[in-house]
Amino acid sequence: SQVEALPGREVEIAELTRHRVLVSWAAQAGLKHTVIDHAEGSYLYTPDGRRILDFSSGLICVNVGHNHPKVVEAIRRQAGRVTYVTPNFATDVRAQLADALSRVSPRGALVKTLFTSGGAEANENAIKIARLYTGRHKVLASYRSYHGATLGAMTLSGDQRRLAVEPGISGVVHFFTPYPYRSPFGVPPEQETEAALKHLEDVLLYEGPENVAAIFLEPVIGSGGLIVPPDGYLRGVREVCTRHGILMVLDEVMTGFGRTGRWFAAEHWDVVPDMITFAKGVTSGYVPLGGVMMSQPIARYFDEHVFWGGLTYSGHPLACAAGLANLEVYEEQGLVERAARMEVAMREKLGRLAERHPVVGDVRGKGMFWGIELVADRKTREPWVPWNTKGPGRMKELLGQLAARDVYVYGRWNLLYVAPPLTASEAELDEGVSGIDSALAAVA
Ligand code: PLP
Repeated sequence: SQVEALPGREVEIAELTRHRVLVSWAAQAGLKHTVIDHAEGSYLYTPDGRRILDFSSGLICVNVGHNHPKVVEAIRRQAGRVTYVTPNFATDVRAQLADALSRVSPRGALVKTLFTSGGAEANENAIKIARLYTGRHKVLASYRSYHGATLGAMTLSGDQRRLAVEPGISGVVHFFTPYPYRSPFGVPPEQETEAALKHLEDVLLYEGPENVAAIFLEPVIGSGGLIVPPDGYLRGVREVCTRHGILMVLDEVMTGFGRTGRWFAAEHWDVVPDMITFAKGVTSGYVPLGGVMMSQPIARYFDEHVFWGGLTYSGHPLACAAGLANLEVYEEQGLVERAARMEVAMREKLGRLAERHPVVGDVRGKGMFWGIELVADRKTREPWVPWNTKGPGRMKELLGQLAARDVYVYGRWNLLYVAPPLTASEAELDEGVSGIDSALAAVA
């Protein structure tokens, strides 16, 4: 097996990677690669038998854990039937997955799905659908957001990653969304919702709401800072959108499929958007898959109007088989409910880090989606690593300390993202928290 083939070849594989692979979001010189041989549950294993705790589910996608037998078997079975047909043919796995998605969508109101290969393509297509459906051009998104790395999705992304592709696509306007720990509106947390909605209305007034096709939002902001909106905000945005004929698009690429303790984070506030974009957890990353779910009126519009879009791999059978198996796993193992229940343990365990380390400024999250915000000074809340364009700074050192303890955590700027597989045991949570505890002490 491959497990036997790899030991002794780590150096060769790391070297080949360094010479032949362009790796994401990095200047390549000096990059070090840990070779992974196989994975199981919450752990990655190196060829020489090191066991690394995957405390962020990869890039917050491996929700059902690694190497789940049911998903592996579904992929294997599909590979023996048909792995590719054009999107114009029908397959059982694509039809059933679309049906299941509609069933678990907020209030079952999103009735049709366009399948893509990932999250960026999903947002790219949602921009297009919104423009075709409304006949309007502008799209709004939060400064605190990430929507993907293709040109349109990256322009939509508010955070600094966007700057590399400017001027990007036309018609994208950014605005500020609630951030109770560091209010961009300079108000106390209890006034954040009201201030944020007023700000959005002001932006719309100056942009002309009649020109705006859609407002894109991550219901819980992911890599832009793990920010949970205060109650009332998303409902307020829904109301603003409805009043102005603007489509509300929720990017649930990171938050979807149980991550926050609901199928979709929108359900925490009983909000039904016009579209949801998804990826990651739909297959737990086993095979690349994403998509756009849409409301009945949008779906109907395309009954009589051509949808000017398509992808060779739209509804790829192998990906849909993996997706269908994932949805079955979520239901059979009650993982969405489990993520909701684990919120208490996550808050309690991560909260203990705040007691022990002055560098921990804030601990926040929902379900099994948590962020630890690090500060240089608790009183002033000065960020431990400034929100800037210069690079990861001290975060790199902290991630190195975690890696030395065989704990993988996704970290950016001054945030650690704790999002273990929804199957992670309490003992595994303790192991991860203990790794963070010790790594924080090392960099203090
Ligand atoms: N949207 C959000 C909220 C994300 O977190 C990501 C990726 O991390 C994307 C979109 C882009 O997805 P992908 O990397 O699959 O293109």
